[in-house]
Amino acid sequence: MLTALLSAGAGPAWAADREYLEKASALNDSAVAKMRQGNFDGAEYDLLQAIEYAGGDVQKLRKNLGVVYYEKGVRALQQRKDFFEASRYLKQALDIDPQNTRYAKAYASTLFLEAKARAAQGLHDRALELYEAGTARDPSNLHVWVQAADYAWSIQRLDKAAAFLERARKIAPDDRNVKVLEERVRSARREESHSTETSEHFILSADAAQIAREGAHRVLYELEQTYAEVGYKLSVYPKRKITVVFYPLKDFHDHWRLPNRIDGYYDGKLRIPYSSKGLPEAVMKPIVRHELTHAFIAAASPHPVPRWLNEGIAQWVEGRQLDMKAKDALVIHQITRRLAPVAHLDKALGHQNNPFNNTEMTLAYMKALTLVEYLIEQGGIWKVMQLVQGSEPGDFEKVLKKNYGLDYNRLEADWQVWIERKRYNS
Ligand SMILES: [Zn+2]
Repeated sequence: MLTALLSAGAGPAWAADREYLEKASALNDSAVAKMRQGNFDGAEYDLLQAIEYAGGDVQKLRKNLGVVYYEKGVRALQQRKDFFEASRYLKQALDIDPQNTRYAKAYASTLFLEAKARAAQGLHDRALELYEAGTARDPSNLHVWVQAADYAWSIQRLDKAAAFLERARKIAPDDRNVKVLEERVRSARREESHSTETSEHFILSADAAQIAREGAHRVLYELEQTYAEVGYKLSVYPKRKITVVFYPLKDFHDHWRLPNRIDGYYDGKLRIPYSSKGLPEAVMKPIVRHELTHAFIAAASPHPVPRWLNEGIAQWVEGRQLDMKAKDALVIHQITRRLAPVAHLDKALGHQNNPFNNTEMTLAYMKALTLVEYLIEQGGIWKVMQLVQGSEPGDFEKVLKKNYGLDYNRLEADWQVWIERKRYNS
């Protein structure tokens, strides 16, 4: 019965098959030509039709379709930053060719972009899921394992952070970022067992023995005093409680792998080597004022502000003053162009990239301070805080222009004239 049926249909079906196969082949050629011209929509349509005509043997056609989906995905990402569309196409490319590492990496990068976007919206679980899915697709990418671990750490998901970190460590055990994060996760685990004491604006976190030794009430009272000072100076009073973590002085720099001259640290929490026996109040006060200012700026700005502005304001609130010699050095380095221009100043301030180059960093901090002093002379600290409160994602120069009518070049030139004049009278 079966044989009869087959032979009955064999003649005409074979002729039709050949005709269809020729159509399919012509459509494939047309698709390849369109791909070369960058017309991927046209190529996709040709290939889908060709697959329909070709019937059974479509492997080559599907492979070409995979390339089309890959290209469409990459374009959606690069030209339109549309990671939803990109991830849809790249997923389709991967379904066709699951072993293709180029597809896998591109797909992973769309997942990472979405993870960042979700993280920014505060959708932490979704962001972590995306990081996990992405790293699974691109497991040799150290940078992303570190980024995922850093994110998990920042939202206190320490088990996840440790798991991501473990993978990063397998790729590059001696990487500096890996080491810093290891210490942060370890330290965060210790903090989980910390005791806390609270006041109106603060959560004080330290190990129980230390809190007992310092006297939590006295410390919180001092913090509240500093809060009032900084709030008054900046006309900003953050409502959310600020967590302050105390470290024994001797451990502080080891824990954070910070150069010795960095006395405090702000990363969403204030981290301070507080010890009434270790450091006199005259030293502690400015440190707390400085780090607290970073917390105030984070609370007041809808988007991150440039580091130079952040560090400039913090030093101003701290009460730092440059003597004539310091200003002289600043001017000389500026004139001889050994000092980063405003647009690149943040890089010079980034101690993570450049931990022990003291002179360059010291000068960058001095420039940040005097830039803020210059802006304060133009319209008061109130106007500087308008910059902070009006921050927008990305282009800070635009915000500067809107508030001061200055672009970076103009600010640089005006500031230089001002500081040259200023250096002999402090
Ligand atoms: Zn600072």
